[in-house]
Amino acid sequence: SAQRVGANRHQRHTAGLDASAQHHADLAAALRRGLARGEFRLVYQPIVELPLGGMHAVEALVRWHPDGGAPVSPAEFIPVAEQTGMIVDLGAWILDTACADAAAWQRRHGTAAPRISVNVSARQLLDPELPGLVGSVLRRHGLEPGRVTLEITETAVFAGGPALHTVRALRALGVGIALDDFGTGHSSLTLLRTCPVTTLKVDKSFIDELNGSPEQEAIAVSLSGIAATLGLRAVAEGVETRDQADRLHVLGYRFAQGYHFARPLPAGDIDAALLSAVS
Ligand code: C2E
Ligand code: MG
Ligand code: MG
Ligand code: MG
Repeated sequence: SAQRVGANRHQRHTAGLDASAQHHADLAAALRRGLARGEFRLVYQPIVELPLGGMHAVEALVRWHPDGGAPVSPAEFIPVAEQTGMIVDLGAWILDTACADAAAWQRRHGTAAPRISVNVSARQLLDPELPGLVGSVLRRHGLEPGRVTLEITETAVFAGGPALHTVRALRALGVGIALDDFGTGHSSLTLLRTCPVTTLKVDKSFIDELNGSPEQEAIAVSLSGIAATLGLRAVAEGVETRDQADRLHVLGYRFAQGYHFARPLPAGDIDAALLSAVS
């Protein structure tokens, strides 16, 4: 159970590496059981269009509520799911669930329905079956590939090789490819030539100090400029204040995401927001 996981975390401080390895193994087992028991949920954070804040897309973010325990952050369990390879099964569930919700929004709200963004980890890109899986999920839910974007990190494709090959196959299906946390990885502009990217998600760290730091502004402007020049979409991540949102619009950003606009929400709340937007 999650309580046992928590207890082991506490032991790590006293018993050293063995306890840490044990914690890792316990967490991995709890994740597998959690998937079988339906303990995972998706929440959706709007990606809005500036300046009015209309919902352009939503990003699916996974949540784990272990039976009887406190919720566990994806920052804690995604790395373990990656290391154990369990992310492949969890990722398939995430993709299927997100596409099912997106298809339902499209049935209910038509053209007002948001596009969907789904995070795909480095480990998933090493699975040669991923493009086939994505294709069959889209067909099963009757979702157009152009409505779906997969978020990957620079680091995942930096080395080239099989991961880059997979990204090309995914792009060939017609889905969008976003570089997540852009600017924080092995940020190589060469990547923008070799990897078929459609969107740059400019990392929160570049957005945080927008007001008051000319250097920060110069970087934010350059990144949106690179996107515009290459015909890519730029999305500003982690926008927390009205001032940041206003400034981003002035600096040429058309898309933004962050607590200032909306927190990640359950699917039903996205429905409600879409209904209230048209009324
Ligand atoms: P990410 O893909 O870059 O997602 C953005 C994270 O920033 C989310 O955290 C979101 O809740 C948070 N965030 C959004 N707006 C703000 C803001 O204004 N201020 C602050 N402080 N934070 C904001 P979350 O949901 O905890 O996810 C953390 C990371 O875990 C994600 O970063 C992603 O790398 C990974 N992750 C989450 N869900 C999935 C998933 O379904 N699959 C995979 N492979 N990874 C996931
Ligand atoms: Mg993301
Ligand atoms: Mg991100
Ligand atoms: Mg991030």
